[in-house]
Amino acid sequence: MILAGETAAHAFGALEYGWAMQFATLNAGVVPGVPTLDELRALKPLQQPEWPDPVAVEQVMSQLRTLPPLVFAGECDDLTAKVGAVARGEAFLLQGGDCAETFDGVTAENIRAKLRVLLQMSVVLQYAASVPVVKVGRIAGQYAKPRSSGDETRGGVTLPSYRGDAVNGLEFTPEARIPDPQRLRGVYNAAAATLNLTRAFTTGGYADLHQVHAWNTDFVRSSPVGQRYEQLASEIERALAFMRACGSTSDEFRTVDFYASHEALILEYEHALTRIDSRTEQPYDVSGHLLWVGERTRQLDGAHVEFLASLSNPLGVKIGPTTTPEYIRALIDKLNPKGIEGRLTFITRMGAGKIRTALPPLLEAVRDHGSPIAWVCDPMHGNTYETPNGYKTRNFDDVVDEVEGFFDAHEQVGTWPGGLHVELTGDDVTECLGGGEALVAEDLVSRYETACDPRLNRHQSLELAFLVAERLRSARA
Ligand code: PEP
Ligand code: MN
Repeated sequence: MILAGETAAHAFGALEYGWAMQFATLNAGVVPGVPTLDELRALKPLQQPEWPDPVAVEQVMSQLRTLPPLVFAGECDDLTAKVGAVARGEAFLLQGGDCAETFDGVTAENIRAKLRVLLQMSVVLQYAASVPVVKVGRIAGQYAKPRSSGDETRGGVTLPSYRGDAVNGLEFTPEARIPDPQRLRGVYNAAAATLNLTRAFTTGGYADLHQVHAWNTDFVRSSPVGQRYEQLASEIERALAFMRACGSTSDEFRTVDFYASHEALILEYEHALTRIDSRTEQPYDVSGHLLWVGERTRQLDGAHVEFLASLSNPLGVKIGPTTTPEYIRALIDKLNPKGIEGRLTFITRMGAGKIRTALPPLLEAVRDHGSPIAWVCDPMHGNTYETPNGYKTRNFDDVVDEVEGFFDAHEQVGTWPGGLHVELTGDDVTECLGGGEALVAEDLVSRYETACDPRLNRHQSLELAFLVAERLRSARA
């Protein structure tokens, strides 16, 4: 629309004025429709750092409030629509990445490897089960960790626990473990760099489906799962060649939609990145597309749920084995009172031994409630234990068993097993036991690199994708 002379000047003035107003209120930490940080603090949020210098925290927050958004509200809405298809049983969601990202881990190689394994997994799922896969990384913001204990003891020395690079350092020294709010700026910068490269990879040719073989080139082709993938890649190439011969040159094969997600844990950071979108006039937390609340901070009247309820982003909630049908109904009414499709995802993390009894009553309660929910299986967090040689690990067989239990429960109740949420890395680390390489406790020492929970390596991730694809194919039938 072109406006003439005075009208244009007037409209521009109004815009300027509107922007100035918004800027002023945001800078004071007030976002219309969102509880203020003081209101959230009054709810005694759990798992927050004890920042030693409140003035320094305020300074960092006012800087963060002026910085550009990391993601855009329209992209968040696009993801909501895609998760809506998951809730309707028309798509599958794949969400994966590190337990805890680290600042040192922001390298091109690391980001590329993570993206590659997610692309390989989604191709396996999409091709074998003929279902669209919604791709979401635990990436570009996953820097804060809830801890089961506030401190950690090693060799008789007790220090505050590591809470993620957003808060303090992993190194076991008193200095490193002091919470430092300057790290929140570090999170913003690390997330911006990660998103920048991710956007380049996913739209600039790397994610082109014609690269389906190339993603596998440096992979151990002699491994059974590597070979299985090669075969599938060849079938896809033939299908693409066939479509080309038919005259189809669809751009849809050239790029992928990829979204960023993380646990919204540190309220100062998340609040400072919350903005009113000028188009919809609704508040969005622009630190990531999808935000979830963890098992330890999902209390109904808790600060985290209160904060997330005020946002327009698509939301996730981790659901553990003690969850009751009453709680889950109340949570839906709080987080998605309007029943928007794709607004709410439940990420179940029951443990392999519990999922078959704990999940069906929740599925029934949600089905009877009638609100749309995307159900996603996190087969990692209910299956963590320590080996006799002192490593926190997970057994691949337990991971697979929980996924099977998830599909069994949905089959029993007649609901859609909507997705998979995994902690993984694109590298050949040795953090989880079992899988095709049959890793045992003694192997863990060779490449145990995680800053927090043990991740599936590239072999194990791809193996899991093949197993899930088989169950998904029968769920579709
Ligand atoms: C996590 O996803 O890393 C995590 C801490 O999960 P949960 O809240 O389910 O324990
Ligand atoms: Mn974890």
